[in-house]
Amino acid sequence: MNEIDYLYKSKLNEECGVFGVVNVSNASEVMYYGLHALQHRGQESAGIISTDHKQFYTVKGTGLVNEVFSETNLQTLNGNTAIGHVRYSTQGGSSIDNVQPFLFRHYTGDFGLCHNGNLVNSGELKRQLEISGSIFKSTSDTEIFAHLIKKDTQTNRLEALKQALNKIEGSFAFLALSKRKLYIMRDKNSLRPLSIATLNGGYVISSETCAFESVGATFLRDIKPGEILIIDEAGNQQSDFYAKKTYNNMCAMEYIYFSRPDSDIEGMNVHASRKEAGRILAKEFPVKGDMVLFVPDSSTSAALGYAEQANIPIEMGLIKNKYVGRTFIKPSQELREKGVKMKLSAVPSLVKAKDIILIDDSIVRGTTSKKIIEMLRHAGAKKIHMRIAAPPITHPCFYGVDTSTYDELISGTHTVEEVRQAINADTLKFLSTEGILKATRRDKLCLSCFTGNYPTYTYQDITKANTDDKF
Ligand code: SF4
Repeated sequence: MNEIDYLYKSKLNEECGVFGVVNVSNASEVMYYGLHALQHRGQESAGIISTDHKQFYTVKGTGLVNEVFSETNLQTLNGNTAIGHVRYSTQGGSSIDNVQPFLFRHYTGDFGLCHNGNLVNSGELKRQLEISGSIFKSTSDTEIFAHLIKKDTQTNRLEALKQALNKIEGSFAFLALSKRKLYIMRDKNSLRPLSIATLNGGYVISSETCAFESVGATFLRDIKPGEILIIDEAGNQQSDFYAKKTYNNMCAMEYIYFSRPDSDIEGMNVHASRKEAGRILAKEFPVKGDMVLFVPDSSTSAALGYAEQANIPIEMGLIKNKYVGRTFIKPSQELREKGVKMKLSAVPSLVKAKDIILIDDSIVRGTTSKKIIEMLRHAGAKKIHMRIAAPPITHPCFYGVDTSTYDELISGTHTVEEVRQAINADTLKFLSTEGILKATRRDKLCLSCFTGNYPTYTYQDITKANTDDKF
């Protein structure tokens, strides 16, 4: 995580985004725009590996997509097939060694690999692999999967992939690139989104559908839970599954916060689901007020829904500074709190003497909410009713989101009333878990950070992992 993220985000951060191109003539250019559209999923590093079916070409580095890639280095990425990655590190740290995609050399065939998600049994698997002689170059859990794939060189590649996938537990969307084929793999719980589209006779694969619009591709379908989709250099597809039992446990936070509003996740538009969550929040917790305010940008859709349902005007009482640059100040708690002020400003002439209904998408540490409320009060707001378009985040996420301890979560250690007092709101209400399911029109989602019921084994009971669901 860079310092600016740490300063300004007392919010959750997504781990990564992946993008793939198969059989498209200007692959490196398409990759660039695809990764650019996924920039919100990771700002720490970016990389592309391409192939012309004879050899691999790599460009990767730390920084934003437009900092890592240039017209000159994109021209070195030969071939019509490529995989790419934007990264925000939760597992592994921010060293250059962890920048993806990785290129692995092996006598059975070299391959590139990148990953969105987090393996919950990576520690145990790494220890076992090291005992049997493996040496790791990075601290990323993605490298563990590469070692598992090449553990058994006697079986064919698809079987080796199935065996490796059955050993790992957690969330993943993997793209693996050999010189002749792209392998697309999604975990059996379908915790992270992954979709495929057509483009100029070839295919593009993306963590989010917003990237398809950016490159002019036409959505084809979502990759299914537990699916291994293989596309060869001629564009032939082969679909298989590594698990008998699969589940629709999409991460609720993808709808609530992570994904871009113009993305569709498993058939549901993200903006539409957020707006509906706002409407449901207004029905669940109505309150009188002069105006509805949103915290830019991720709570805009929910605030629109709340305002529409409550028939209360929506205003831009909080303005975001778009030109916040990078800083390298040590990220102390005090500086993090100051950072909110640098990022947002209240508009006194709008909010003075007004009763405000303030909509946000989530509360993590509570520092952002506290600072925003302080800012609004300083600007003259009379009352501030805070409404959150998600349930309280009470439990850590093990699937690629940067909350690994309860201490980081104010709702994990405090009641709603205590949180209200801590952030100094007049009232505070959270959307119900039923409300989120209704807003996304789903009967199943991963809601673990709200409920503590995890769809996989976690670090604590990982010895029991992968005892079922195998062919
Ligand atoms: S625990 Fe929360 S953030 Fe993590 S995958 Fe589940 S819903 Fe998403």
